[in-house]
Amino acid sequence: MPTVEEVPARLLLGSGPSPVPYRILKALSHPTVGHLDPAFGALQDDLAARLRAVMKTTNKVTFPLSATGSGGMQAMVDTLIAPGDRVVCGVHGAFGGRMADALGRAGADVVRVEQEWGRAIETERLIAEIGAGSTRAVFVVHGETSTGVAQPLDGLADAARAADALLLVDCVTSLAGHPLDLDAAGVDAAFSGTQKCLNVPPGLAPFTVGDRALDRLQKRSWYFDLQAMVDYWFADGPRAYHHTAPINMIYALHEGLRIVEEEGLQQRWERHAVAHEALREALGVLGFERFAPDGEQLSSLLALQIPEGLDDAAARGALLKDHGIEVSGGLGPFAGRAWRIGVMGEGARPEPQDRLVRAVARIGGGDEAAAIRALEEAWA
Ligand SMILES: *Cc1c(COP(=O)(O)O)cnc(C)c1O
Repeated sequence: MPTVEEVPARLLLGSGPSPVPYRILKALSHPTVGHLDPAFGALQDDLAARLRAVMKTTNKVTFPLSATGSGGMQAMVDTLIAPGDRVVCGVHGAFGGRMADALGRAGADVVRVEQEWGRAIETERLIAEIGAGSTRAVFVVHGETSTGVAQPLDGLADAARAADALLLVDCVTSLAGHPLDLDAAGVDAAFSGTQKCLNVPPGLAPFTVGDRALDRLQKRSWYFDLQAMVDYWFADGPRAYHHTAPINMIYALHEGLRIVEEEGLQQRWERHAVAHEALREALGVLGFERFAPDGEQLSSLLALQIPEGLDDAAARGALLKDHGIEVSGGLGPFAGRAWRIGVMGEGARPEPQDRLVRAVARIGGGDEAAAIRALEEAWA
């Protein structure tokens, strides 16, 4: 009969979850209090302020939904999209495809703007499609975790406003790892997750909604009733119970946001960019090649074509079994030929990357010393 103690520790360098630092595990194990305890309420207010700073927004309604990142996506659909709404949905990987699916199931008129995997969508194509009908919303994935591509947002907000449409964004993998200023980009609502660049275990979906989007509020979901959550998180008087907030996860997220503040958001973005390039250089020596062209890469996720002759499943199996390191394989058209390596928070540092590069060299062959030199030079 397995116990928790028998699950080994791993170095998590896949597409998420990412390495959880001890400080966050410690916050997670702090004694649970009630969800209406005034002391907890003070922590909630502070958390909301910290989340606004990391999302770079002044939106009052900025808080963690009690769900994983996918729950954030579902909440966005359920609260901001009505059946029949024309929604322009960028699809340049698996997560854009999931959103198109969720929108379709909710009865939206989904206009997919597709792009080949490994490239960003030309914003002109999205803008043209926004103007081609009475569009109610446009959605894009800012950090496509399936391909390691960052989607530019330039011009989308202006086009959306001109059409009286909302600009909606998935920033699950980009938040706190890749430059993103939600207010400057004119984003009306966005969702994220805790287990990528924030290094908090999976379980919450940071979520923000601005005033233009709040005017559209739908009440089709019972669980994701945004007004009920506003009445709990942002009540003028006593907080109203809707569902029991995941107290200890909120402790953990608060600690994760403190760590981001201590480093500084800008510095954190810069460190992720250096870490991405360092790992790309080192694994390049071992025959791996990035899919994203220069300028389209997502700092927090390195998606690489694996070298000719390397057995994907066997090599990832050996990494996990013999070296305790997790990396992710490819999805969809990238299955069997891509590795997706997280460059997320504590994973975006020289020591874990050194462990990974040495292990990959031992499994797949190649010049380990040269790869490590490339890693060290990029970090120097
Ligand atoms: C991980 C991820 C999600 C889904 O988050 P879950 O926490 O797994 O539900 C959504 N979008 C992107 C871009 C992601 O990387």
